[in-house]
Amino acid sequence: MYGRKNKSDQPLGCKECKQGLQEYLDGTLEKPESLRFFLHLRECTACQEEHDRLQGLFRMLESLPDHEVPADFDGAVLASVPYAAYQAMEPLRRDRVPVFLEEAFLPRFVRARVTRLVGLGVASVAMALALRGDGSVLLPVLIVTGLLPEIVVRLQGLGRRALETTRRAES
Ligand SMILES: [Zn+2]
Repeated sequence: MYGRKNKSDQPLGCKECKQGLQEYLDGTLEKPESLRFFLHLRECTACQEEHDRLQGLFRMLESLPDHEVPADFDGAVLASVPYAAYQAMEPLRRDRVPVFLEEAFLPRFVRARVTRLVGLGVASVAMALALRGDGSVLLPVLIVTGLLPEIVVRLQGLGRRALETTRRAES
């Protein structure tokens, strides 16, 4: 069995379970941690329901072949980002990784795959409707809101890469 590690030996509580459910479903948890979720879910109906709901959402999103992200998605996203504003922050980026480029700066739910997927799903459905000429004024709002988590996460990655490149060039 697993070595005695303070936290992982204790049974998982509902609060902790709900907080980590997305990661559990993503399969990104360490094995002992994952086991704690498994054991708790087996015993707890409320968390099991939440688990099933999220899992259903994943499945639904993965079965949306008509609304796949277009191949030029990255380009389109980057083109829509105010790059001038990003460049204006250049002096801030010089010495260290600014706090907004650290992954932990973003709330967990923004980084979670399900949030980004739901966002993309909403945005692409809204785009499809907009292209069809369904003239609701809400559609642009839905598109922007839906793309936001993905954009923010991608921008962060881009910022970190840019920083690394700059550093390498300087040293
Ligand atoms: Zn529970």
